[in-house]
Order: sequence, then structure tokens, then C-alpha cells
Amino acid sequence: MTWVERLRRRCPIGAISQELVKFDTQLLRSPEISGVEYQQGELAGYEVREYLLEKWGRTCMYCKRTTLPLEVEHMTPKSRHGSDAVWNLTLACHACNERKGNQTAAEFGYPELEAAGRRPLRDAAAVNATRWALYRRLQALGLPVETGTGGRTKWNRVQRGLPKTHWLDAACVGASTPATLRVEGIAPLLIHATGRHSRQMRRTNSYGFPEKAPKATSVVGGCRTGDLVRAVVPLRSVKAGTYVGRIAVRASGSCNVTTATGTVQGIHVRYCTAIQRSDGYSYQNRGRRFLPWAEAQGRKRRRKDDEG
Ligand SMILES: [Zn+2]
Repeated sequence: MTWVERLRRRCPIGAISQELVKFDTQLLRSPEISGVEYQQGELAGYEVREYLLEKWGRTCMYCKRTTLPLEVEHMTPKSRHGSDAVWNLTLACHACNERKGNQTAAEFGYPELEAAGRRPLRDAAAVNATRWALYRRLQALGLPVETGTGGRTKWNRVQRGLPKTHWLDAACVGASTPATLRVEGIAPLLIHATGRHSRQMRRTNSYGFPEKAPKATSVVGGCRTGDLVRAVVPLRSVKAGTYVGRIAVRASGSCNVTTATGTVQGIHVRYCTAIQRSDGYSYQNRGRRFLPWAEAQGRKRRRKDDEG
């Protein structure tokens, strides 16, 4: 909700697409459901696959390995009039699928699988309770909210020939996804919640009884842990150089600065200037630590000068 509100302040968002559930259980119960897109069969196939991955724990049910690519497998083979319904389907790696061949799961030595197949996936609804709560709060914003399934997201992404990444999955949520998504040259901004400080109101002793005052927010030399700083360490020091990164303050004044390449220890806070105050999130662009535009330009220029 925080990020929906922040983004709305900066760009004109007209509608929201939310991936509400992993798969559409409605679709699994009545495969002859009407509607043009479902008639094509493809989308329903993705829903079934997502359902099976969840139900069988992304594991080959015969050799119990999880690292191999999995195939949807008929416990009673189709050649022996086995049903296409989900209760007859399980997951198998290619080798096990081949070895099982024309046998039923019981004949192959796994009689317990067929009963397990008939048990519905009970937890599916519970798992999604948080997403439903989010859905109701998104609706309260007054924007049109569309929901999609994980199966639909994957189907949309594969149809458009896009690689599997979180941000491209996000672009593929819902039925409103455009037929073509132009993604070349777009670098996602990765935002991680890092927290500001401890929220604990009372610290406890070793028995769990409240004892000490909460940890105070420490400001050392005008900097706070998490601030983006530029440290210019003079030549006479061992750590001479310019560093841009997140600071972790120490009461002694000797701080750590985490740059794109690693953490530099023992930089005194008097050499540091805050560029951006910590807001409880860290930002990364294309896997690099995010720098404000001017900083990035300055760095590029300096690198060019070095090469020249
Ligand atoms: Zn296997």
C-alpha cells in the first residue's frame, strides 16, 4: 500500500492489476467453463500446471527429486482410458515418466498416490488470505482493480516471449496485458525494505522481562545509519579516496560505508556528506546500487577521464 500511494503521487496511474491467486480453482473444477479465451485450452493448461506444482510441492512424485524439470503425468495413463481431470494428474521428471510408461501409479509401485490425488488442495484458500486483504484495500483507493492468477501471468509472459524475472511477471499480470510489451532498454528500479531502526519499545533481559529503554536512533556527525553519503577521505589517510554508499554509523565516529563494490570500514564521519536521507528502503538499478542522477553522471565522467 505504501508503494501504491507513493507511485500514485508521481505518475498518473489509472488502474491496478493484482495477481490475487496462484491458479483459478473454479477453472479446475469445471473444465468446460465458457468464455473464448478458455476455449483455446492453453490458459487452462497453465492453471492446471500451477495447481499441480503447488499440490505436489514441485517434486517428482516417483523419485522425490526437486531439481529436475517436471512433466504433468497421468497416474492412470491416457492409453488406458485415464482421465484428464486434475485428480488423475501428478508431476514426474522425464526419466520417471519414461520408466513408468504404460503402467498405472499403483503398478509402478506407488499405490498411495491415487488416493492423494483425490484429496483437494485444502490450504489454497488460506495461503491467499493476505492477498485478499490487500485486494480490498486496493479497491478502497477508488481505482479500477483487475485481478489475475499466477497461471495467467505465466501464460501472458510466455506468449510474449519474455524471460522470467519478477518485474516482467509484474508487467504480465491480468487480462489487460497489451499484446506487445516494449521492454528493451528498460532497467527496473529494485526497492528493498530495509527498515529505519528498531521498533522495539522496551528491550528485555535474558528472561524476557522488559528492562531497558528502547534503542535510541543514533545520529553521529549529522549522519544516520542507512543514509546515502559521499565520503572524501584525504590523501594522508590509508583509506584515501572518494566513496559513495550507505553509511552505518558508530558512536566513535569511525563508520562503515557500503559502496557498490563492498563495505569500507573505518571511514570517519567528518569526511562524509549525506546525499540522500534513509527512508527505510534501499534502491538498486540494474543490480547496481542506485545513485541519484548527478552522482551517476559524475562517475561516468571521471571513468572517461581515467580512460582518456
Ligand atoms: Zn523422477
